[in-house]
Amino acid sequence: MTSNLVVRDAAVVWHPFTQVELADPPLPVAAARGTRLILEDGTQLIDGVSSWWCNIHGHGHPELIRAAATQMEELDHVIFAGFTHEPAVSLAEELTAVLPHRFDKVFFTENGSSAVEVALKIAVQYWHNQGQHRTRIVALDHSYHGDTFGAMAAGARGIFARPFEEMLFGVERLSTEGTERDLATCRSLCASGQAAAFIFEPGVQGAGGMRMYSPAVLDSYLEVFREHGVLCIADEVMTGFGRTGPLFACSELQNAPDIICLSKGLTGGTLPLAVTACRNQVFDAFRSREPAHTFFHGHTYTANPIACAVARASLRLTLNPQCTARRDHIAQRHTALLARLAEFPHISDPRASGTILAFDVRVSLERGYTSSISQLAQRFFRERGVLIRPLGSVVYFMPPYCISDEELDAVYAALIEFCRFIRESCHTNAAQTA
Ligand code: PMP
Repeated sequence: MTSNLVVRDAAVVWHPFTQVELADPPLPVAAARGTRLILEDGTQLIDGVSSWWCNIHGHGHPELIRAAATQMEELDHVIFAGFTHEPAVSLAEELTAVLPHRFDKVFFTENGSSAVEVALKIAVQYWHNQGQHRTRIVALDHSYHGDTFGAMAAGARGIFARPFEEMLFGVERLSTEGTERDLATCRSLCASGQAAAFIFEPGVQGAGGMRMYSPAVLDSYLEVFREHGVLCIADEVMTGFGRTGPLFACSELQNAPDIICLSKGLTGGTLPLAVTACRNQVFDAFRSREPAHTFFHGHTYTANPIACAVARASLRLTLNPQCTARRDHIAQRHTALLARLAEFPHISDPRASGTILAFDVRVSLERGYTSSISQLAQRFFRERGVLIRPLGSVVYFMPPYCISDEELDAVYAALIEFCRFIRESCHTNAAQTA
């Protein structure tokens, strides 16, 4: 029976990334605790995607709730131009202390896309303020940086961007292979003197299909770009806060990025907050008695005190050795599953990075984001009490770090069962067409 909430929802709500004519109706969720989403009818689902990759400590964490409630009593929100407050300053101090390489200044926004927009705008204006016309952006193939116009332009062009294609600025692309040709492209871009910035997702390209690639490739690009002053932007919106193992994926790079974008795990997946951090050398290009050199960008909820207070509490939890141990444990268990996944002929490239596990389903259904495998898989896993939402034909599992061993076992069992189901469906199809 369709719940009343779903009927009311259909009348008035427009959901993200959802084609109503094709999608299943949304599931009414009443509450969430730890790794569990509790639906209106009492059904529980293990949150296998960390609620869009942001929930790292589990839902309803008492310390995060306390931090939000306490802060709300004191100061709920205030304009952040001309004012400052303790939660924002302390968070900026604590972040700059734990970020790898060196980042000195923190600019606050509310979501990953805005953090990327800010990074790109800072990079272009950095050159403009110094009287140089450098506006070309360099990005990687298969990249994803968000859904606003600038972030969309930097991302790979697929079905998401198609209607807007002619409105997006041109971007130079490099592969994640680091071929001689790529390096030649890097050098010629530098020689042209037009490249403003190079943006990348270090280690794992998330929405592009959980594509994992070597930090050595990035380092080879960064080496060339840094030598020519091209600003390097690490988009750690997904990889930050321990997702791939280290606290930040760019700690595995020899060459330091100039700018870093963070969001998602920043507040433990509770409140919208993002930051774009840079080194003083970048900030100093905006320090001037000339008003036109100001960075004219800001959002209403910039540095919202409640979100900042929760982010501080979440960072404390993330830095706790117990959390690190838990992440290592999940990473080991993911790695142990890879050999079993590799036995299935219709599964390709089983892979893991930190707490992310992924594989491709290699069957002759159409590929890409709209692959029908995705919907089939979502239903399959839902029936087994797990929220898994493949990116097209890429099935991935990215749990909150607090997931228990029993829950890991349950999800792994469902994943193996799914692989068997794919194998058997392919055999049946082959037998029917023979
Ligand atoms: N960058 C990366 C690497 C991301 O994975 C995402 C979101 N999936 C974004 C940017 C955009 O973040 P948001 O959805 O918060 O705008």
